[in-house]
Amino acid sequence: MNINWSDVCHEAEGAFIRYLQIDSSNPPGREAPAAHFLGALLEKEGINPEYIEIKDGRKAIFARLKGAEHSRSLMLASHTDVVPARIEDWTVDPFGGEIIEGKIYGRGAVDMKSVTIFHLFCMILIKRFDIPLSRDLVFLAVPDEETGSRFGMKWLVDNRPELFDCEFSLNEGASGLESFASISLDIFQVAVSEKRMAPFKLTVKGTPGHGSKPTTDNPIVHLLEACERLVHWQRNLDLSEQNTLLVRTLADKGLINGDFDFKKLREDGLMSSDLEAGLTNTINLTIFSGGFKFNVIPGSAEALFDCRLLPDMDLDDWQAQVESQIDDDRIAFSYALEEIPNEPEPVISEWGNELSIAIESSVKEFFEDAVVSQTTSTVGTDNRFLRTLGIPSYGFIPCLFSQAELDGFHANDEFLTQDNFKLGVELMWRVVAKVVCSKQT
Ligand SMILES: [Zn+2]
Repeated sequence: MNINWSDVCHEAEGAFIRYLQIDSSNPPGREAPAAHFLGALLEKEGINPEYIEIKDGRKAIFARLKGAEHSRSLMLASHTDVVPARIEDWTVDPFGGEIIEGKIYGRGAVDMKSVTIFHLFCMILIKRFDIPLSRDLVFLAVPDEETGSRFGMKWLVDNRPELFDCEFSLNEGASGLESFASISLDIFQVAVSEKRMAPFKLTVKGTPGHGSKPTTDNPIVHLLEACERLVHWQRNLDLSEQNTLLVRTLADKGLINGDFDFKKLREDGLMSSDLEAGLTNTINLTIFSGGFKFNVIPGSAEALFDCRLLPDMDLDDWQAQVESQIDDDRIAFSYALEEIPNEPEPVISEWGNELSIAIESSVKEFFEDAVVSQTTSTVGTDNRFLRTLGIPSYGFIPCLFSQAELDGFHANDEFLTQDNFKLGVELMWRVVAKVVCSKQT
């Protein structure tokens, strides 16, 4: 069987542009037309998808291609919703699907309508060419990822567990990068886990009183000092199992200094905030409150931190580190887990299975010198729900993003280059074919 990739990519690009033109902004989340658009393309090939209505106007689409009975499936999962786009902030129509100078613009271009089309064309090609499968290939595109998955993947995992009889799954969460901080090197990262959201609160009580009199027990001042100690806290890289290969590879190639000193890496221009977020526990002061009237010293003050921990970080250990850094008994620490209801415990997917081997070897067929590395996603994805079921779930967008493309996630003028789109179609196929096709194609 000979696939004409130029024709396939052209056809897929047409589908991608039409898909971008469907406004599936969430909120409000009306993803049913997106599900039906994808379903129509499958139906045209003779694949019968199931549309699963989770809520009014919110549908998931599920389809299965049967393989040998004895092997469990590979699931290709993605989300159909996109974050809203304010048209006045864009220089092009966010739902126009315009191509300008080799760039395909539109909300969802990188997050993640392109990936859904890569998945869809794996299904289409297998059916069209009647390729025998060694295991089932499953396609699932869900709503509501962008506002927490309550009416998407979380609902399906809770209510339709039989859909998840898979051996492994692919979704978003990491990608190829054409440079790494300031280092020019093709790196394909595959997310095997996600950082754990662990927002925490600092509260302090003081002595309330009249603002006209000097005091040594103003809670706002105590809190300010504590926050300052946290904000300026210097921590080193955390070499977990998931990022060790990447960091050591960079060091072996002489691209970064082997002592992994943050300060030095920053000074040398080798540390971007994306990279730093992936390699360490992060904290950001996001809410600071206390006081209600200019001439009243309040009795208490409170600060809230956005905190993202590497998945193997123990919550009690982290709390002890924070408290020791603050070093002030007046400050009470508590996790604000009510801010993130229903978040599952982080799970780290295994590496070294058939799927990870297929990703590594497929990438090397396109980019001989590329580094392929497991990593930790710095943002939440639907993978977290599948991982709790014990399914190794990888975040892998098979494109080699420039910094500009990477910056497009949730931002204005989101785009994917036509070259990256073509790469995505072929590279996704290569990976999937290695895992599900009986004969190498
Ligand atoms: Zn996404």
